[in-house]
Amino acid sequence: MSITGECFCGAIEYEVTGSLRDPLSCHCSRCRKAFSSQSSNYARVESANFRWVSGKELLTSYVGKHGFGLLFCSVCGSTLAGTLDKAIHGVTLGCLNEDPSMEEIHHIFVASKADWEVVPDGVTQFPEGRRDIERRS
Ligand SMILES: [Zn+2]
Ligand SMILES: [Zn+2]
Repeated sequence: MSITGECFCGAIEYEVTGSLRDPLSCHCSRCRKAFSSQSSNYARVESANFRWVSGKELLTSYVGKHGFGLLFCSVCGSTLAGTLDKAIHGVTLGCLNEDPSMEEIHHIFVASKADWEVVPDGVTQFPEGRRDIERRS
């Protein structure tokens, strides 16, 4: 299977073959800022299964501590993908064009959520992180 994603302005497109895994929505204060939202929504991909289809030259990046970075469209500001030590590590779910038909999203660091956020009933929540998933590479 293959799935595509693109930024808000459409200049940057990518394609992932194979499945997305370990989908997480992290509600910590750092992810709120990094994703400009109430939480991150992100899933892992194999870097070998990922390719930029168009607009790669328009990407800009921010690499934080521990070598984890985010790739953005320099035109519209969409956050498209995450990197670890410069290799593609995962994609943001908001920029996907199709249903990724992946496993259920786990909501982590819910104990750190913003005061204004209401987490829906029925989602799988963890008050802190899930080290078993975060350490898997
Ligand atoms: Zn864009
Ligand atoms: Zn987080």
